[in-house]
Amino acid sequence: MAEAPAPYDVVIIGGGPGGYNAAIRAGQLGLKVACVEMRATLGGTCLNVGCMPSKALLHASEMFDAANSEFAKIGIEVQPKLNLSQMHKSKDDSVTALTKGIEFLFKKNKADWIKGKGKIVGKGKVEVTAADGSVQTLEAKNIVIATGSEPTPLPGVAFEAGKVIDSTGALSLPAVPKKLIVVGAGIIGLELGSVWRRLGAEVTVVEFLDRITPGMDTEVATAFQRTLTKQGMTFKLGAKVTAAKSGKDGVELTVEPSAGGAAETLKADVVLVAIGRRPYTDGLGLETIGVTPDKRGFIDHDHFKVADGVWVIGDVTHGPMLAHKAEEDAVAVIDTIAGKYGHVDYALVPSVVYTFPEVAWVGQTEDQLKAAGVAYKKGKFPFTANSRAKINHETDGFVKVLADAATDKVLGVHIMGPQAGEMIHEAAVTMSFGGASEDIARTCHAHPTRSEAVRQAAMDVEGWMMQA
Ligand SMILES: Cc1cc2nc3c(=O)[nH]c(=O)nc-3n(C[C@H](O)[C@H](O)[C@H](O)COP(=O)(O)OP(=O)(O)OC[C@H]3O[C@@H](n4cnc5c(N)ncnc54)[C@H](O)[C@@H]3O)c2cc1C
Repeated sequence: MAEAPAPYDVVIIGGGPGGYNAAIRAGQLGLKVACVEMRATLGGTCLNVGCMPSKALLHASEMFDAANSEFAKIGIEVQPKLNLSQMHKSKDDSVTALTKGIEFLFKKNKADWIKGKGKIVGKGKVEVTAADGSVQTLEAKNIVIATGSEPTPLPGVAFEAGKVIDSTGALSLPAVPKKLIVVGAGIIGLELGSVWRRLGAEVTVVEFLDRITPGMDTEVATAFQRTLTKQGMTFKLGAKVTAAKSGKDGVELTVEPSAGGAAETLKADVVLVAIGRRPYTDGLGLETIGVTPDKRGFIDHDHFKVADGVWVIGDVTHGPMLAHKAEEDAVAVIDTIAGKYGHVDYALVPSVVYTFPEVAWVGQTEDQLKAAGVAYKKGKFPFTANSRAKINHETDGFVKVLADAATDKVLGVHIMGPQAGEMIHEAAVTMSFGGASEDIARTCHAHPTRSEAVRQAAMDVEGWMMQA
């Protein structure tokens, strides 16, 4: 067993958006830092099998779809032909460039990447087992757990390569399935379902709840479902998948009404199970430091601190399972370790669904405000009245601004429309300064832009919307 040289100020276990950003921040602050990652590349779920490859396929399939159904309307006549292996290659090349970029940033910030699986073996000690079986022990003043998450399996439904797959399998299907069933109407299921629908699959989404995208404002979710249905996606809500049987003709799913009742059988070539993700702590040695995850597997913390000299960030702990939340945690934990002020405002973590149109929101939904008994005002503006959206023939969707009835402070902004994921940040910045809807309404917005719809919705809070 090789001896570790000198103790590290920080050893991070996991090289995803939580871990790699923590390593870079630690390097910036002059801390001696190592990041232990067992994958062959840095970047975690997000870069390797999450955000980035899914967005690559969403972008490519959106262009394919537009070429098929939109181009002719604006006078461009083409007959697109799908080259799926090239689409995958382009996605894989982008992922490689991105993961190499993190390696470069590690070197630039003097962060060591220790390749292998990390296990805590006592206070301040992380044992790393490399792929070749060699073992080394790192001494650390601080250990940051950033081990992320993995897809949640569905009871009664075993994964089977190419037939019953998780999100990782759905990123590299070698052929377009004729029929795809997506189990779970959350963000990941709807994004990947959209990819394969655009490429030619018949897509049915089966969801336990009686609505799609829990967490999204109900009014927006209803409009979003209507749009996805218009695009050709079929929804079976309030339905529970209890079993899957695969044979040479595909997969048979047993589906029962969530509220009870007779079961039915649905058939598909491929079933994508996308019912959520669960924290990953396998073989992490938490017991050696007296830490037990909660009932759902998450590691609890008090301002990131789990035990003396042990910290936790990202998907493996509470909060939205999002890359940018993990990144916020990362900076805050390292700043705290370095004696600076580390803080994350979890109320202002934006959410984005990268379908077409996109859906983005920040702050509270109407449902949450009603449940909390908060008196609020609401402004709404449809993209049918926005000149940029009209010119681009992309008028589906609207902007909704929710503001405190007494103070006008913005409490939530919800956007469904193309590039909503880019537009949401004006709301996030306004809210992080405690701004009012009038602040947005009285800020000059360039014309013609979709962002004018945000301004108009803010104007509508006080009833002086001018363009609809
Ligand atoms: C299909 C898909 C699409 C997504 N799209 C988005 C999106 O558009 N936007 C968004 O914000 N989020 C998205 N996410 C979620 C996002 O990927 C996660 O929230 C994010 O990656 C969490 O970062 P993390 O650092 O906490 O964990 P992870 O990214 O999961 O990284 C953890 C890393 O730790 C490593 N590890 C675990 N245990 C050990 C160990 N013992 N030793 C060494 N290494 C270990 C793992 O190999 C992994 O690389 C998506 C996820 C999926 C699956």
